[in-house]
Amino acid sequence: MEPDFELVREIVGKEGRLCRFCLGSLVGEKLGAIPNAVKGAALGSILELTGRSSEGPCAVCDNLIENSMDDLVERALRLLSSIEYNSVKAGVKMPPWLIEREDRLRAKYNPPNMVSVKLTLIKWLDLVLSAETGAPVEKDPDVLVTFDLSLKDVELRISPVFIYGRYRKLERGISQSRRKCPYCGGRGCEKCNWTGKIAEGSVEGMIGEVMKEFFESDDYVLHGAGREDVDARMLGRGRPFVMELVNPKRRSADLKRIEEEINAKWKGKVEVLDLRYSNREEVRRLKEGSPEVRKLYRALVEVDGVVTDKDLEKVERELTGAVIRQRTPKRVAWRRADLVRVRKVYEVKTKKLDERTFEMTVLCDGGLYVKELISGDEGGTTPSVAEVLGKKAFCRELDVLEVLGH
Ligand SMILES: [Zn+2]
Ligand SMILES: [Zn+2]
Repeated sequence: MEPDFELVREIVGKEGRLCRFCLGSLVGEKLGAIPNAVKGAALGSILELTGRSSEGPCAVCDNLIENSMDDLVERALRLLSSIEYNSVKAGVKMPPWLIEREDRLRAKYNPPNMVSVKLTLIKWLDLVLSAETGAPVEKDPDVLVTFDLSLKDVELRISPVFIYGRYRKLERGISQSRRKCPYCGGRGCEKCNWTGKIAEGSVEGMIGEVMKEFFESDDYVLHGAGREDVDARMLGRGRPFVMELVNPKRRSADLKRIEEEINAKWKGKVEVLDLRYSNREEVRRLKEGSPEVRKLYRALVEVDGVVTDKDLEKVERELTGAVIRQRTPKRVAWRRADLVRVRKVYEVKTKKLDERTFEMTVLCDGGLYVKELISGDEGGTTPSVAEVLGKKAFCRELDVLEVLGH
């Protein structure tokens, strides 16, 4: 490390003493895998032995790092001891004045192998955390420990836990997401436990509240592969979802037990199946929705007038294999742009119940508005059941029987 050492001697001679972290950052790129703080400590001893060390506080950090490190590490380990994690990583926030001093030094001497004090410190803390906790350091860790040198504080950022499953909704009138709290309008109040949301009456809340207890999380978010209407049931093998548990203190839980508890608690209303651990990548895939997704619906159709067996044969014949053009229905127009969707119907089967009502199963592309496929939406959807019959038709009940392709 000859040329660097000359330069270090010059810098220390002119600027004054440097602590092991700031010394180490000067020669950072040299000496391979040895942590910079250790290099700095070695350089410090050499300077002392050769009578080149100076007295006084560190010319870059004013001894801030050495003075606060022990306390901050101790605090971090105390915080970590109350949560479950399998990997860690350190982060550092530096006070601006320190970065300024460092930049001045860099500009004045241009040390060829200099690495920032911040990075020097992060690498050091990674080693300390990993050695003290036994957890490996990972780029995308379960918990990021941020050491704030300005505030002299430590903060944990815990990665969410993701759980994949499928839900069945056996009762109508349950929404997929939680409603905004009517008392505070979503800002958070005592009534909603400061979440801004009401858990009751939603699939998200019914599943989320149980999972939240198991994982000791602060909150949760349900990511669904599409959604059904509030008044539609979701039957068959259920709709795929990923539950994101926010800020969880536990990461491992018995998913079988969670499944049993949810299904016992909400018997006849909501059920979950196939629970397993998941990740953010799967949420992304689920949200994008694969275009190959097909859905099987069951609808109860009421007709204005009388339907004959011939009518129903005609509905089956003309709508099976039909390409449907739909303008955005008025009932959802407030939250979606008005445009024409093209979706295919693969199969329609009917079963007459009485003179003016029949049951219809529809296998179609995901994203088709089935209520409008029946009513025709005043010409906004074509062809439609109403158009084929030449009579007004109306969807009285709707269930999703299957979501296929996930
Ligand atoms: Zn220093
Ligand atoms: Zn509230």
